[in-house]
Amino acid sequence: MATVLQRFPSENIIVVVSAMGKITNALERLTDAVFFKKENASTILNEIKKYHFDIIEALFPDKNHSVYNDINNTFVELDWAVEDEPTSNYNYEYDKIVSMGEIISTKIVSAYLKESALNSKWFDVRDFIQTDNTYREGKVNWDLTQKLVTEIFLPALKNETNLIAVTQGFIGGTSENFTTTLGREGSDYTAAILAFTTNAESVTIWKDVPGVLNADPKWFDETKKLEQLSYHDAIELAYYGATVIHPKTIKPLQNKTIPLYVKSFIHPDEKGTVINEVQSSLPIPCFIFKVNQVLISISPKDFSFIVEENFSDIFNLFAEKQVKVNVMQNSAISFSVSVDNDERKLPELIKTLQKQYRVLYNENMELITIRYYDQATIDRVTVDKKVLLEVKSRYTVQLVVKNQ
Ligand code: ASP
Ligand code: MG
Repeated sequence: MATVLQRFPSENIIVVVSAMGKITNALERLTDAVFFKKENASTILNEIKKYHFDIIEALFPDKNHSVYNDINNTFVELDWAVEDEPTSNYNYEYDKIVSMGEIISTKIVSAYLKESALNSKWFDVRDFIQTDNTYREGKVNWDLTQKLVTEIFLPALKNETNLIAVTQGFIGGTSENFTTTLGREGSDYTAAILAFTTNAESVTIWKDVPGVLNADPKWFDETKKLEQLSYHDAIELAYYGATVIHPKTIKPLQNKTIPLYVKSFIHPDEKGTVINEVQSSLPIPCFIFKVNQVLISISPKDFSFIVEENFSDIFNLFAEKQVKVNVMQNSAISFSVSVDNDERKLPELIKTLQKQYRVLYNENMELITIRYYDQATIDRVTVDKKVLLEVKSRYTVQLVVKNQ
């Protein structure tokens, strides 16, 4: 990290840091242990502590360094969360616990940068990124956030020449000073919010991949790196589930034509991908795979047509239960959608739908999206698969498939 940061001498930079390693997942498990009392919460918390202290010990050989105390004190908040009886609001408890991953990582990073003789300051992003209280999916209050960034954050950067402002990705604060999260993988979005509100020159996302690839190497052998991508293509790819960029990241950047670079922290000299206002379309097809999908088919119980009122009912319900529709298709008497299989949300949704509709669903589906498709690419990805649903638009095809 310090090597990446040394590339920016004499510039003020804002470094948005996410939780370390797989800590967000571990904190999700901790939340479940606290809330549902399934697993032993203390065991999970001890693993999380050990993970961080192993890193701290490797970075700070001097055991008297203030970071030891600081992180110990920060963990007290998680100790309390484990000891206290949770409220009945799962999403609120989730944000309170899961957000600590970013609080802790930024404290370690900031201390380490100072130790490396860099001019670094730690900021609590909750002081200026303000959201409503939609826990786990905080909606940014842009006006207030802009005001707070202008009044609190920018003045703190003003008389500095090569300051590294370290702050948390993924989290925000509410008007009542509660913590929210912006949705999984939301750190990129935080960077975009801060870039927009501070009028940044550019944003760089440092990744363990060389840039934006035309497919996830996890599912595909021959991937190609894209040199350049339009905001429009980037937003489409992210929307359909390319995990390299959080879908909400692009809009604030596009609105102020701030370029977004996706680069590798392993090979920081390589060019990576730039996302900007280029007009041309992509030279090759892009593939996005989403596994663990549930294909839900909804139809009126009495064989009547699906009409506008049904749609509005159905969509309201999806919004209320915070279930995101990945693809949809309708016919005269039925409406089909593919959604992520979230066991905390789906059973409720299906139960409510069943009051009014006949609901069929298939689990273990895969959703394949191809942007700039042609028949050959479709054939290639559907070998040995049964296609249950296919939606084509001019540039994009989406297929819900099942392994045969
Ligand atoms: N730590 C959060 C997550 O894993 C945010 C992020 O990584 O962008 O979802
Ligand atoms: Mg992460």
